[in-house]
Amino acid sequence: MTSSDLFPLSAEHEMIRQTARDFAQKEIAPIAAEFDESGEFPSRTVKKMGEMGFMGIEVPEEYGGAGMDTLAYVLALEEICKADAAHGTVMSVNNSLFCYGILKYGTEAHKQKYVRAIASGEEIGAYSLTEPMSGSDAGTMRSRAVRDGDSYILNGRKSWVTSAPVAKYIVLFTMTAPEKKQKGITAFIIDTDKPGFSRGKKEPKLGIRASATSEILFEDYRVPVENRLGEEGEGFKIAMGVLDAGRIGIASQALGIAEAAYEASLSYATDREAFGAKIGEFQGISFKLADMKTRIEAARLLVYNAAMAKERSKSSGERFTLEASIAKLFASETAMFVAHAAVQIHGGMGYSKELPVERYFRDAKITEIYEGTSEIQRLVIARMETGLR
Ligand SMILES: Cc1cc2nc3c(=O)[nH]c(=O)nc-3n(C[C@H](O)[C@H](O)[C@H](O)COP(=O)(O)OP(=O)(O)OC[C@H]3O[C@@H](n4cnc5c(N)ncnc54)[C@H](O)[C@@H]3O)c2cc1C
Repeated sequence: MTSSDLFPLSAEHEMIRQTARDFAQKEIAPIAAEFDESGEFPSRTVKKMGEMGFMGIEVPEEYGGAGMDTLAYVLALEEICKADAAHGTVMSVNNSLFCYGILKYGTEAHKQKYVRAIASGEEIGAYSLTEPMSGSDAGTMRSRAVRDGDSYILNGRKSWVTSAPVAKYIVLFTMTAPEKKQKGITAFIIDTDKPGFSRGKKEPKLGIRASATSEILFEDYRVPVENRLGEEGEGFKIAMGVLDAGRIGIASQALGIAEAAYEASLSYATDREAFGAKIGEFQGISFKLADMKTRIEAARLLVYNAAMAKERSKSSGERFTLEASIAKLFASETAMFVAHAAVQIHGGMGYSKELPVERYFRDAKITEIYEGTSEIQRLVIARMETGLR
């Protein structure tokens, strides 16, 4: 059974998926292991993703994007991540965390300048909320922006910024009124070529190693008032609104990793023999495959459902927080479950760098951590259900 049996796609969506699949399998899959090993940023293939329209797939054409819908975005991202989750991370941040935030909360001038540059793939974007002492609890961030005439002066250190080593522009969240905690956070668009900005150490990571992640530092960095995204104090609301979109991207990433791990396992289980039988004939293995397949198909329905909720929100204005959190929680835990089983099905070869299965296992883990850990997703879902804090 293929995925489209459970979730019928339009001819146009099927074509987008096929185009992304062909590109990802031809251009990305063959180099994924090499870039994972070296940890080098894959500039050439990321550039090609831009040329294919993947870096701003949902961005209207008037702002340099491909003008497609959210379902097209998740289908393409799933295929990229099936080949290599690290490439998918860069694509997801560009689309969801950078372009979506500016399209939703930015001015026309922001969209023309910053969205166009990133959606066209000419430049790379990033999103910076986390700090060394503040992750899940953004209200405790220590970086500061102080108003000074027509600009703000920014000081502080942000951590774990995906694509920071290569980004030209960053959507940044910092405190303008620390006493107000979450309500004192303001969002800005940062140009990394201006004085006062520097990059800290590049993070050595367990997985998605070819995506570049680093700290960033601000020392009396001057950001003009016109680069403020929204009003003072709206930063937390913007950060969370953007993460709703981001979580759908991470859910698609998790789905892609899970599919890759499952397909490798299915092929291995129907080929590898032990005790005179294909290992897939043993119930211990075949039931694993059944559970993997079932969870993947359930995750797919949740991911596509969240994508359609986001698409509807474009006309209704309604938030899609619940759909996004549910999809992210379930798909990321599915990716981890499936990748774990895949290593087991492959036995010793699952532990070897000669096959991609161990990479799927390492890459799957991040989907349970970034853009809100699984605990934070449960907290969001439970609060929305109970109405309690
Ligand atoms: C590879 C990578 C890339 C990243 N990219 C970005 C990026 O581009 N931009 C960005 O801003 N950030 C980024 N992050 C940061 C990421 O979003 C945070 O690491 C994540 O949100 C968790 O924050 P933390 O690491 O500070 O953990 P903490 O918040 O300190 O959490 C530690 C543990 O406590 C749990 N916990 C915390 N609060 C609660 C609670 N209320 N209830 C139950 N459990 C709780 C967490 O779930 C976790 O298990 C990235 C991280 C990684 C590893």
